[in-house]
This record gives sequence, C-alpha cells and structure tokens, in this order.
Amino acid sequence: MTRQEMQQLQALPYDLKVRRAEQRAKEFYNTVDNCHVSVGGLDSITLLCFLRQIGIDVPAISVSSLEDRSIMKIHKDLGVININPIKSKKQVINELGFPVISKGKAKKISILQQPDSEKQTFIHAIMTGDMGEQGHWQHSDKIKLPDKWLELFAGNYQEHRPDLKCKCAPFPVSADCCYWMKELPCDRWAKEHNSFPYLGLMASEGGQREMGLIKNGCNYYGKTVTRSAPFAPFMRQDILQLALDVGAPVPEIYGEIVRDPDGTLRTTKAQRTGCQMCGFGIHIEERPHRFDRLRERNPKEWEFWMYRCATDPETGEKYGWGQVLDYIGVGWENMPDTDLAGQISLF
Ligand code: SF4
Repeated sequence: MTRQEMQQLQALPYDLKVRRAEQRAKEFYNTVDNCHVSVGGLDSITLLCFLRQIGIDVPAISVSSLEDRSIMKIHKDLGVININPIKSKKQVINELGFPVISKGKAKKISILQQPDSEKQTFIHAIMTGDMGEQGHWQHSDKIKLPDKWLELFAGNYQEHRPDLKCKCAPFPVSADCCYWMKELPCDRWAKEHNSFPYLGLMASEGGQREMGLIKNGCNYYGKTVTRSAPFAPFMRQDILQLALDVGAPVPEIYGEIVRDPDGTLRTTKAQRTGCQMCGFGIHIEERPHRFDRLRERNPKEWEFWMYRCATDPETGEKYGWGQVLDYIGVGWENMPDTDLAGQISLF
C-alpha cells in the first residue's frame, strides 16, 4: 500500500471503515489456523469487544502487569490471559536503560553511549547527518540527532562535532523495553500456541507503526510475521466512536468518553497510556505530565520511580527518573499549578 492509499482509506466515512475492518478481521480468521487478540489499552480493548461482537471469539492475551491498575482490572473482567514480561520494568531500566525522548532517538543515543563502537560511519551520520560512502555521500537531517541531544549524550564521540560541547549522561538510555516486556513474551505465547495476533494498531499513531502498516497493509502474512491490524486506517475519532458503539469498558485512567460541543470525541483523562515508567515523549508533554498524574494516583509508586528505581553500578547509589528528567530539562519535583483532574495528558 502507498501512503496515498492509506490516506484515502483514512478519509472513508466511519461506517465504511468499520465494515472494512469487519471484512479484514473475518478474512484473517478464515485464513490462519489459530488466532488471538493482543490487548493493552483502550484501542485494543475496543478491538477485543469489536471482534467478539462480530462473532470472532478467540483468546486474548496481555502483559497486564505493565499496565495501569484500572486497565488490569478491565483485562481481568474481560477474561484476558495474563502473560509475564521476560524482563521486569526495573530490570529493563537497570540492565538496558531508560526509555526516554522517543524510540528512534533512544536507539541512536544508546549507540552513542557505547564507547569505542565499530559503527563509526553510523555514529558520524547520527552526529552530522553525513552518510559517508555507503550512503553515497548524501546528507540526511532525518538520521542526525538534534544538537541539543548530541550535547547531552554524545560525549564519547565529541571528535565528530568539535563545534559542540558534548557530555555523557550519568544514566543509560535504551529503546528495547517493548521487545523484552511485550513483543518477546507475546511472540513466545503465540509460537507455543501456533497462533497469530490481531493488533489494535492504527497508522494515524505515526512513527514506525505507521510505516509498517502502510508497507504491509491490514492483514499481513509474511515469512516471519503474520498479523491482522483491522483498525489500521482508523483515526482517533473512529476508535472512540467504535468504543462507544461496541460498549467497550473504559478503564478509569482514561476517565470517560465525552463529546465536545463541536462533536469531537475525547476521553476526559489520559488520551494514551503506557507503562508507568515510560518516558517516550515526556519532553514535549505539558504539565501536569504523566509522572505528575502518577504522583496523584499512586504517590508511593511515583516515589519509587522518581528516586530509587535504578542503581548506579559504580557507586551503588539509588536514583531514578528524577535524575533523568533533570538532565533533559523536564520539571517534575514541584507540584504543577494546574488542576490535575481537569487536564488531558498526551500519553
Ligand atoms: S509503554 Fe513505553 S516503556 Fe512501556 S514498553 Fe511501550 S515504549 Fe516501552
């Protein structure tokens, strides 16, 4: 599928998109031997309810322990099978690093944090945008990390940018959380059960997901991956409307689905959710941000993640997200002035 074709599907009326999603879901059901639904937040809870409503009653699995308590409760009510992460959230942070800024940038930062790397051409490209011989001497602003992040994280490779003053962060950064906590455990369950997943992914979420959905379409039967994403062309409004239409239970963390005077649907609390310790996008989120909200919901857990979830391997000292947020210039320790309950968070 091309980007343009995806845009055409995204522009279809809601009813047509839902009918199309039903067809894709049934096609997948009739093509593979066994299938299951991979469930996380509201989007995939809606997918599960939608599939059940159209007569596709297959097992649902989730690494529920990563989710907010209110989501865990809904999973339990819906009979979702709980599977365990391969590494715990604390292990991910200590053994791999903090998931911060964005997945793409965290991946590059983690490479810059390895001293004496053999990937010199790639490092040079990350730091300057110049792709070298392999990249036909092209320049790419896409591959280059913005200078502000280079200054904070590229100290090991200062020589590539003598015009900047680059530091090394006192904590590791990693983009591998999803792999160890969600992808690998779900893949293992799927292999053990010879089953293929329905996923609640939407191209409108952007990023790598969008690229994958455009490239492979709603139903994909590949050599190593087979999956169905019947909501691929859905926009946020479609998923909220469908959640209402199929009577999907809305976990408390999202508040409720309401319609604004102009007809737009929104959830009254969180718009998106992730693990409590997820820092992707935190630098562009307004306060009260997700850690402020965690503080309000569960001060003990907030205290743990902010001050003591990680141990410095050299000094043995405890530290946490507080140090990471200070380093990248995101406020967290003071209470934000704004009313928490009335705000909408990005995540
Ligand atoms: S929500 Fe964030 S921290 Fe959790 S697995 Fe996904 S990307 Fe990683």
